[in-house]
Amino acid sequence: MRHVGVLIIGGGPAGISAAIWCKRLGIDCLLLEEQPQLGGQLFNIFNEIIDYPGMRTKNGIEMQREMVKHFVEMDCLHEVNTKVLFIDERSKTVKVKKKAKEQEICYTYLILATGSSQRKLGVPGEQQMIDRGEVYSASADGERLKGKTVAIIGGGDRAFEGAHLLSSKAREVYLIHRSTRFKAREQYVERVISNPCIKVMTDTEVTAIHGDRHITSIDLESKNKEYKNLLVDAVLIRLGVAPNVDLIKGKVATAQNGLIVTDDVHQSSNPFIYAIGDACTTPLFSSISFSAGQGTIVAKHISSLLTES
Ligand SMILES: Cc1cc2nc3c(=O)[nH]c(=O)nc-3n(C[C@H](O)[C@H](O)[C@H](O)COP(=O)(O)OP(=O)(O)OC[C@H]3O[C@@H](n4cnc5c(N)ncnc54)[C@H](O)[C@@H]3O)c2cc1C
Repeated sequence: MRHVGVLIIGGGPAGISAAIWCKRLGIDCLLLEEQPQLGGQLFNIFNEIIDYPGMRTKNGIEMQREMVKHFVEMDCLHEVNTKVLFIDERSKTVKVKKKAKEQEICYTYLILATGSSQRKLGVPGEQQMIDRGEVYSASADGERLKGKTVAIIGGGDRAFEGAHLLSSKAREVYLIHRSTRFKAREQYVERVISNPCIKVMTDTEVTAIHGDRHITSIDLESKNKEYKNLLVDAVLIRLGVAPNVDLIKGKVATAQNGLIVTDDVHQSSNPFIYAIGDACTTPLFSSISFSAGQGTIVAKHISSLLTES
């Protein structure tokens, strides 16, 4: 069976940083990424990135290119299209699937850099909408949504920012939230509430999304048990993110919000398993720079353990 000193699961900013640092510190390391390319959520960032020191890029894809170029120049060992299916923490092995083939890899230390994903509504029609590719970005798809009726679901900053951005392009914008309290910043809320082009519907839940070839309408249910079918052309789900921790559930300690619990060197409750990036960071602090910094901490800490032994 193949053995590596450090096995990193996930090729987003956190995993990339950890791999670069492992390489720099001379640690035998392999990074596995299930997607065809490294980069993680960088592929979902359509706005300009202005908050990463020394690298201001027009979007996430440009930053992905720079990071991967650096990673490849450092000759970091990695495999893409490779999904980790199972972790056996007792034997310190993982089962991976690459194309149709499964194999096992044994590790001394494991770094979970599996990131986070957008929360879903969990209603009929949602997955079909995603599978059809009807996934929009408020900042990048303004032209595609010009003259359309758009529903934005959520009560946080991204929902309110999206509604504001689309209000100058779309024919109608509905912001739908299941409560009357919003998590979004006060100035975002005020800007939307005072915008006559945006209709805010509170205490209202989406119960289904309809459409065969494209979205045609959504079903709504209010707290007072009033039901309504609303004709829309697009739905943007902005319910925040959830950490990708299914692989490790029950094997290391996780908090109530699902995040992997780590100490100040990012070690989990299992001394051979570490977590970095969005998998262990509250959304309030999740960022590219924080993920990269956590990759540094873990690699340096593991290096010190390997030097001691
Ligand atoms: C729309 C949007 C805008 C943002 N804007 C900014 C910004 O301007 N500035 C900023 O600092 N941050 C921004 N962020 C946040 C930033 O992108 C994240 O904090 C960062 O990408 C987290 O990095 P990560 O490596 O922890 O996780 P991710 O980027 O989520 O990467 C995790 C990787 O792990 C892989 N993976 C998961 N499970 C497995 C498995 N079982 N096997 C193999 N691989 C697996 C995934 O495929 C993925 O590639 C934004 C995020 C979004 C969504």
